[in-house]
Amino acid sequence: MSTHHRNNPVDLLVIGAGPVGLACAISALRQGLSAKVIDKGALVNSLIGYPTQLEFFSTPELIEIGGHPFATQRYKPTREEAISYYQGVAKAEKLDLRLYERVLALEGEVDHFVVKTDQDQHPCRHVVIATGFFDIAKMLGLEGEEEPRVTHYYKEPYPYTGRHVAVVGGKNSAAKAALDCYRNNAQVTLIHRGPELSDRVKYWLRPDLENRIAEGSIKAYFNTAIRKIEDRSLVLETPNGEVRIDNDFVIAMTGYQPNYDLLQTLGVEIGDDPARTPLFDPVTFETPRPGLYIAGTVCGGLHTGRWFIENGRHHAEQIALHIATGKAPEVDLGAKNWKTAE
Ligand SMILES: Cc1cc2nc3c(=O)[nH]c(=O)nc-3n(C[C@H](O)[C@H](O)[C@H](O)COP(=O)(O)OP(=O)(O)OC[C@H]3O[C@@H](n4cnc5c(N)ncnc54)[C@H](O)[C@@H]3O)c2cc1C
Repeated sequence: MSTHHRNNPVDLLVIGAGPVGLACAISALRQGLSAKVIDKGALVNSLIGYPTQLEFFSTPELIEIGGHPFATQRYKPTREEAISYYQGVAKAEKLDLRLYERVLALEGEVDHFVVKTDQDQHPCRHVVIATGFFDIAKMLGLEGEEEPRVTHYYKEPYPYTGRHVAVVGGKNSAAKAALDCYRNNAQVTLIHRGPELSDRVKYWLRPDLENRIAEGSIKAYFNTAIRKIEDRSLVLETPNGEVRIDNDFVIAMTGYQPNYDLLQTLGVEIGDDPARTPLFDPVTFETPRPGLYIAGTVCGGLHTGRWFIENGRHHAEQIALHIATGKAPEVDLGAKNWKTAE
């Protein structure tokens, strides 16, 4: 570590350059603090990983950060518009970004922290963990799941034209992927462990998918799990016994979870509730480790729909105020579920 580093700790080091991490850095700057953002991937890495043609559920003003206006072509932003918006904001704010640098450890204590990455060491007074939930997919636990024909990150339907595709899951991502693939001439089978589609499926997707299932254009198996991935087929365990179906690709839309190993390595305690919620103060977002904060989706633990951009961006203001003034006001941050919100 250079002397320069040691002598110049940044006031706030943010881990994760997602929308909420960026908002945290901007709120810190607004409070007259210095800030640095480190991400193991690209700027807004999670958004880059979303389906290519994704349209946000949120209207643009609800995912703005730092008061920068977000103008879009249509009612809802596309993935590309959102990526360029956050890039523009980061540039306008001249954020100190360290990209493609992975945080590995946190040493020291408040005012004297050192964040260790795979490339450097960063002295800092305070730390925010805003690492999201999109890096670790919930696995099906099957042999063959690591093969390229199985993906947990659906991008676009075109590779699947003329092929047998199994879409696993019963929520929005599965519904969207199944419909897209069907409309691009794939033979789609939807496999869901629940008895029916989730009631969170958006009202404009649900009838479309239900009608395709009813007319037989998309084959659906409910109360069903994949038992085995074979060479060109899958073995399903259905309520009526084992069924073997032709298969070329599996799109597993079974959700994601925060990186608990990383959280624990960084000194975040995890609650013993079913959602395994990290422990933090609900007003200041400080964890029991003084000077260490947590923000954005990661705050919800396994409940990954609790905090999203719309409400998670407000964590930033609370955290920056707390660091700058030692207190933060009690406000309603609007914990709702983006999967059910319109
Ligand atoms: C398909 C889809 C559609 C969505 N639509 C909406 C919507 O319409 N409206 C809405 O409000 N929300 C929506 N969401 C949810 C929203 O995208 C997330 O809530 C949001 O990305 C959370 O932001 P974040 O900053 O907390 O985390 P993220 O955006 O996930 O950012 C976390 C960052 O941390 C980085 N990171 C992780 N580990 C490390 C490490 N060890 N070192 C350094 N960096 C690390 C990651 O690379 C990543 O860039 C959607 C999500 C999905 C999957």
